[in-house]
Amino acid sequence: MVPFQPDDIDIAIIESLIKDGRKSFRQISREIKISTPTVQARYERLVNVGLIKSVSPIIDLGMLENKTEKRLENIKAKSTKKHNLKITKDMILKMTCDLCKGPISDKPHVLKIANFERFFCCTSCRTLYKEKYKGRIESLSD
Ligand SMILES: [Zn+2]
Repeated sequence: MVPFQPDDIDIAIIESLIKDGRKSFRQISREIKISTPTVQARYERLVNVGLIKSVSPIIDLGMLENKTEKRLENIKAKSTKKHNLKITKDMILKMTCDLCKGPISDKPHVLKIANFERFFCCTSCRTLYKEKYKGRIESLSD
């Protein structure tokens, strides 16, 4: 590899690019008062020796964030709509009996066991459940 020693021109180009990597060769040339072809040749040499890895496009992160925020807002709006389902007493209609697993179409028949509540479609289900789990219910109640 050819040893590389940057001179004043190289350093001027590098310093100019550090300030703004999007500068054109013409802009650099005007800034450091070196001809555009020289700037271009020096620039290419700097890239070849690996001193300039790449001039990445500068992404306006502010813009990206704004777009993401907007998208998030949209998602939020959508999910809020979904979650805006009114919770009413009608929800009880979707309950199933804890014994027969049938739907509870009317008011559920509730069996309170300690901190738990069991719901049944009818009194007989509740009674049957009570009998079936007598032991457990008693132990829970204690
Ligand atoms: Zn039932």
